[in-house]
Amino acid sequence: MSKSKDPQKPDTRLAHAGRDPARFDGFVNTPIYRGSTVLYPTLQCLEDNAQDYSYGRLGTPTVDALQNAIAELEGGHATLLTPSGLSAIAATLLSFVSSGDHILVSDSVYRPTRRFCDNVLKRLGVTTTYYDPLIAGGIAGLITDKTKLVFTESPGSQTFEVQDIPAIAEAAHARGAVVVMDNTWATPLYFKPFAHGADVSVQAATKYIVGHADAMLGAITTNKKTTSMVGRTHDELGLCPGPEDVYLGLRGLRSLSVRLARHHESGLAMAEWLAARPEVERVIHPGLPGDAGHGLWQRDFTGASGLFAIVLKPASHDALAGMLDDLALFGMGYSWGGYESLILPFDPRTYRSATRWEVKGPALRLHIGLEDVDDLKADLDAGFARLAAA
Ligand SMILES: *Cc1c(COP(=O)(O)O)cnc(C)c1O
Repeated sequence: MSKSKDPQKPDTRLAHAGRDPARFDGFVNTPIYRGSTVLYPTLQCLEDNAQDYSYGRLGTPTVDALQNAIAELEGGHATLLTPSGLSAIAATLLSFVSSGDHILVSDSVYRPTRRFCDNVLKRLGVTTTYYDPLIAGGIAGLITDKTKLVFTESPGSQTFEVQDIPAIAEAAHARGAVVVMDNTWATPLYFKPFAHGADVSVQAATKYIVGHADAMLGAITTNKKTTSMVGRTHDELGLCPGPEDVYLGLRGLRSLSVRLARHHESGLAMAEWLAARPEVERVIHPGLPGDAGHGLWQRDFTGASGLFAIVLKPASHDALAGMLDDLALFGMGYSWGGYESLILPFDPRTYRSATRWEVKGPALRLHIGLEDVDDLKADLDAGFARLAAA
């Protein structure tokens, strides 16, 4: 604990949150606990359930270490880990809805979130209305007496719309609806969901918290009001991530701040460079002055991660393949948040319903990793030459 009364800065908490070396013979890191059975010393202890741990599925010191650290960094009341970001989203949604209920979901959510609503929730009798991510306080007009939850994700997947979370939260809370935010892009370091009115924050820890593309992990952080509802559902669904993956989450978390600072700086440098390229029609990066989301991003966020999008001038499929197939540093693959740069074509036209995606050329999502930006520029420069030659 700090001796001073001033709260410690985020970088300091990142190094110390969730750790208790004295409990582990002085070892700096909480060990990996493997286990199902936890023994009780006496019948009385078993009957009273009078110990911290009872069964592997319900928690271990390794799980607690990461849960406590994430809860503190997000500014929430409690955190529960899940085996993936998507399972964190599914468990959160299932915590608040029953047959006959209605939820509001941003049109720019991560696509598997949408599939969960359209398939599982629909089958359970829960209806979903997708809303324009830029709706802000206008969401009030979509809330009915049956609306239990408003789901936000900011910036949105692929198209990076920045949402006015305080305005959405004010309208939702006025009608008793819970506000959930997918905070994966900004991480708990660059956006504080609870300070902006969210009741639940979800992290695909798979991305920046793990940070090395070597584990799947999710986290649900709740405020006081929502902790018991989410806790029950999480328990009843039996969600427990593997101990190695939890440890990799802890390992990654400790360097989150230095990695993100580099992702922020390199991402902006690449975005600016791309904005000046003749092959590029548009760069979508809320950290760029002139971007539609820049004002809200400046108001609510303290940094940008390394993920953004560009739209190319119209080009044939063959030309695009020529550009992407031979990139040396940018890999083509799903996920992001690791140390390596990625590039991925996307086309939201086929599944969005509340908004229209009207661009003429191919759209690409870029993740700027920790490589030297000069090398990344050279790789894309050669790619643009192949695009032009085709
Ligand atoms: C990747 C991602 C998820 C899902 O996380 P997984 O760990 O892959 O299940 C959820 N939300 C966003 C915004 C994501 O990018």
